[in-house]
Amino acid sequence: MTIYLDHNATTAIKPPVIEAVAGVMRDTGNASSVHAAGRSARAHVEDARRHVAALCRADAKGVIFTSGATEANNTVLKHFASGRILTSGIEHPSVIEAVAGTERIPVSQNGIVDLSALKKMLEGGASLVSVMLVNNETGVIQPVAEISKLAKATGARVHCDAVQAAGRIPIDITALGIDYLTLSAHKMGGPQGVGALVTVAGAPPVKLIHGGGQERRQRAGTENIAGIHGFGIAAAAALADMEAYHKLASLRDAIEARIDGITVFGNKSPRVANTTCFALEGVPADTQLMALDLAGICVSSGSACSSGSVKPSHVLEAMGIAPALATAALRVSLGWNTTAADIETFIETYTRLKKTWQK
Ligand code: PMP
Repeated sequence: MTIYLDHNATTAIKPPVIEAVAGVMRDTGNASSVHAAGRSARAHVEDARRHVAALCRADAKGVIFTSGATEANNTVLKHFASGRILTSGIEHPSVIEAVAGTERIPVSQNGIVDLSALKKMLEGGASLVSVMLVNNETGVIQPVAEISKLAKATGARVHCDAVQAAGRIPIDITALGIDYLTLSAHKMGGPQGVGALVTVAGAPPVKLIHGGGQERRQRAGTENIAGIHGFGIAAAAALADMEAYHKLASLRDAIEARIDGITVFGNKSPRVANTTCFALEGVPADTQLMALDLAGICVSSGSACSSGSVKPSHVLEAMGIAPALATAALRVSLGWNTTAADIETFIETYTRLKKTWQK
């Protein structure tokens, strides 16, 4: 049996979501049609909009459904492309690669955006600051409310990719003081290929996909009714299950405490409960990943293998982690269906394999 510990890449769909999506797929109806079938599809979209809004304490009017977080991030970044954009070096590629010429806010060794460096950079003025709420590789929570305060004092707009925060920590779009927030359904027990861009009242409207008048003329294209419906159910469940999610911290902490000789990244900073990123120096990440895969355990490497050589992840690089350590980094991310038995097997398997790697 496979033990899946790569929930930051995508998490298992919760059973009620599968039921809901399958149910809606049996219906015919375009949410733009005025007849009964269309109105039924529309009702699913509007219910989902309320659930997604509730997850981040936003006004449902500000929620626009997209094809995922990549599209939502691109929509915001491209809108501000003619101005100066500041992002951190630990952002997801869908932020970093969205627009050429964006500038990087430095990050500490503990994986947190450097506020004093940001303050200095803002002296030159900026149109947009984009910083994620939770990093996907380390799980470190970023000081987004403080970042917003600094940025807003200079007149910059603020965007936050909250993909890895949703369902793990409470999100309050007003308390964060931001203008735009990105979410993705498949990181919270919903289907892949659907996400949302949440905009607060008063922020400039941003638009990437032109065509029909869907989503209050903000995002053209026939709505993915089944996906959006599943997203809504997943968002409601994520909110209801957040207390239970926090319990994953004790399983994550057991991994870090019981495996000797590893270097854990970001563990001195506030982190979400489900993520650990650690290195076993001297053992390349791909060697570890493949051996674990053969043993039936799915994790992710904190590095990218390109043209035969292992390159450190841009996140660990931005944190100033030495390449020798960064190329030996794994990310283990737990999910709502991870059990204590899964983690026991992981610890035992890793400890056994470690002896063979270090012989
Ligand atoms: N941002 C972050 C922080 C992510 O972890 C991911 C998914 N790996 C994305 C954006 C992209 O999300 P999607 O798959 O919905 O495009």
